[in-house]
Amino acid sequence: MEKKELLYEGKAKKVYATEDPDKLIVSYKDDATAFDGQKKGTIVGKGAINNRMTNHVFKLFEAEGIPTHFVEELSDRETVVKKVEIVPLEVIIRNFSAGSFAKKLGMEEGIKLLCPTLEFSYKNDDLHDPFINDYYALALGLATQEEIDDITRYAFKVNEVMKKYFAGLGIELIDFKIEFGRYHGQIILADEVSPDTCRLWDMETREKLDKDRFRRDLGNVEDAYQEVFRRLGIQ
Ligand code: ADP
Ligand code: UDP
Repeated sequence: MEKKELLYEGKAKKVYATEDPDKLIVSYKDDATAFDGQKKGTIVGKGAINNRMTNHVFKLFEAEGIPTHFVEELSDRETVVKKVEIVPLEVIIRNFSAGSFAKKLGMEEGIKLLCPTLEFSYKNDDLHDPFINDYYALALGLATQEEIDDITRYAFKVNEVMKKYFAGLGIELIDFKIEFGRYHGQIILADEVSPDTCRLWDMETREKLDKDRFRRDLGNVEDAYQEVFRRLGIQ
């Protein structure tokens, strides 16, 4: 399969049409942004790591009955995916306090929550992705109740699969963001799962192995991404 016209260039990926109207090719970039695009930089090797990590975990999800957009890895940075209509919700699951949650609730980071939480942000750059709930999503016509039910069920399942898998690699899954899309009337998992979209801490040292190293200028950003990739054992 070959790339045709560039349909979209986002902050982390380029999206190309293909000869098949049902398929896209995504190409992962090394560009990194944070704080609504105000902070910009490059994380050398990130594109390949995020592409290969996403495909690796999406295959695990498929094996556990979670449908995904994954079709075929073309190269280090490029993958064929099913073309979906993205549901404009960022779905965030948390197992430990961190980031905006810790800030909003006046908590330290790294406190284990009594149960996982799920929240939605409305994917809208002009509005800076505001926090909304499922009633808002329904009232605004962003998704139907059936879609929200599928998304919720799949998101918690993704959490269970990833938590267990990363624990085996000595990594604590703190929180993450996922996106879903509509494909021939079905909800499937789309976009990516990577150190850009997850908080991943070393279980022993609690060292951050994710994009917070870039956001917060903690140093060793590339090393952290490489370390996660190394532990996946997919070289
Ligand atoms: P952003 O748009 O936030 O800058 P990216 O650089 O990751 O993000 O761009 C990728 C875009 O492609 C995102 O808007 C994402 O929602 C969208 N996308 C991801 N997977 C698919 C898919 N299978 N079909 C259609 N669009 C997708
Ligand atoms: N996240 C993301 N994209 C976003 C916002 C959040 O991938 O646009 C991820 C982030 O990496 C973290 C989780 O979602 O793993 C929760 O992020 P949070 O709400 O704490 O926001 P942040 O602290 O990143 O502003």
